[in-house]
Amino acid sequence: MELQSVSTQLAVEPGALEASAPLDRLGDEIAELAAHLTVATARLLNLIREFDARGGWSHGFVSCAAWLTWRVGLAPGAAREHVRVARALGNLPRLAEALARGQISYSKVRELTRVATPATEERLLAVGQAGTAEHVTRIVRGWRLVDRKAEAREAAQQHASRALHVYPDEDGTMRIRGRLTPEVGALLLKALAAARETLYQRQRESAPEADRPTLEQQQADALGLLAEVVLHHELDPGSPGERYQVVVHVDAVVLADAEAPGQSVLEDGVRVPAGTSQRLACDASRVVMRHDAEGRVVEVGARTRTIPPALRRALQHRDQGCRFPGCGVRVGQGHHIRHWAQGGPTMLSNLAILCRRHHRAVHEEGFQVERQPDGELRFHRPDGRPLPEVPPPVGVAGDPLGVLRAWHRAAGLDLHAHTATPGWLGEPLDVGYAIDVLHPLARSLP
Ligand SMILES: [Zn+2]
Ligand SMILES: [Zn+2]
Repeated sequence: MELQSVSTQLAVEPGALEASAPLDRLGDEIAELAAHLTVATARLLNLIREFDARGGWSHGFVSCAAWLTWRVGLAPGAAREHVRVARALGNLPRLAEALARGQISYSKVRELTRVATPATEERLLAVGQAGTAEHVTRIVRGWRLVDRKAEAREAAQQHASRALHVYPDEDGTMRIRGRLTPEVGALLLKALAAARETLYQRQRESAPEADRPTLEQQQADALGLLAEVVLHHELDPGSPGERYQVVVHVDAVVLADAEAPGQSVLEDGVRVPAGTSQRLACDASRVVMRHDAEGRVVEVGARTRTIPPALRRALQHRDQGCRFPGCGVRVGQGHHIRHWAQGGPTMLSNLAILCRRHHRAVHEEGFQVERQPDGELRFHRPDGRPLPEVPPPVGVAGDPLGVLRAWHRAAGLDLHAHTATPGWLGEPLDVGYAIDVLHPLARSLP
C-alpha cells in the first residue's frame, strides 16, 4: 500500500514541475512589472508635488486632489492620498529614493509617510524593506498610537500651564504676563490685529510717520479697545448669522454692470470690487434703500432673501451640489447665471449651485457659465477655452511597457522580479517590541 502510494506521487511530480515553470515566469513577470510601475509612480508623485506647489490646479479647482479626480479619474480618496504622499516625500529623501528605485512599494510608502519625519525615516525605511506590507501597516498603527499619546501629553501640559497674571506695578500701571494655549493665542492675535486696524487705519493716512505709536503701544491700545467692546456687548457673542454678516452698500447700476461708476463699499468704507458685490448679492438677504441726490436714505424696504426657501430646496434637489466641473461640494450658494440685477429671473432655469470657491471663480476670476438650449451647463476658462465636465482621455501610443523599460534602463535602474522583495524570513512580528525599539518617544510614555 505504502509503496504504491509513493510511486503514484512520483508519477505525478514531474508533470507538476513542468506546469509550474511557466507559472513561476508569470509570477516573475508580475513582480518585475510591479517594480516598473512603482518607479513610474515615484515619477508621477514628483510631478504631482511640483504641480501642487506651483498651483497648477488653482485656476478653478478647490485642491490639487480635486483636479486629479477630474483630470486623471482617480477616486477622491486615492487622489487625496497621492497628494498627501507626494507632499510628504518632498521632506523624506530616503523614502523617496527607495520608491524611485523600485525597492519599496507605493503601498508601503503610503503607510510609512503617515508617521515618518526626517528624523525617523531611515528607521522606518528599514521596516519597509524588511517587512511585508501587512507588517508595515501594523507597525504604523502602533507608531501612531505612540504619536497620539505623546501629542495628547503635550496638549495636556500646554493646557495645564495656561495662565494670565495681571498685577499693578508700583507706579499704578498694570503689568500683564501670561501663557496661552496655541489656539487661544491665535484668537488673541487676530483680535488684537483687528482692533489695531480699527484704531490706526485712519491715522496711517493722515499722520506723519514719526508721530505714529510703536507696534507695542498700538497693541496696548488695541487690548483696551477689546476690553471696551466686550463690556459694551455684555459678553454676548451674538447668533452665528449676525457674527458673520457682512454689509455691502452697492449702487444698483454697479450691481448690473461691474464697469459702471458708483459705490461698492463695505460698512466701514472699504471699497470692494464690483464683482465681489455681485457675488455677495447673488444669493443673499437684501434690504433695498433709496437715496436722494444728497445721499440721504429716503426709503427702506423689507428684508428679503434673493432666493426664497422653497426655490432653494428645489435647486438643491436638482443640482445636489456645486456644478463646477470636477467639484461636487455638497454645500453651495445659488448662482444667478444671468444676474438678477441685470434682469435675470430667480427661476430654476437661471440658477445653479456653486460652492463658495467656485462662486468666486465665476464672479471674480473670469470663469464663465452658461446654460445650453438643452439645459446642460457649459463652463469656460477665463481665456475662453471650454472646461469640459469630463476631460478627453489621453491616448497611449505604441508599447507602454517598452517605454517604461527604456526610461528605467536609461535612468540606470536594473529592475527585476526581486527588486522589491522584503528581507522578512517568516518569523512572527512582535509589534509592541518593534515600536519600543524604533519609536524615539515610546519608552518615555506610560
Ligand atoms: Zn453668483
Ligand atoms: Zn465647487
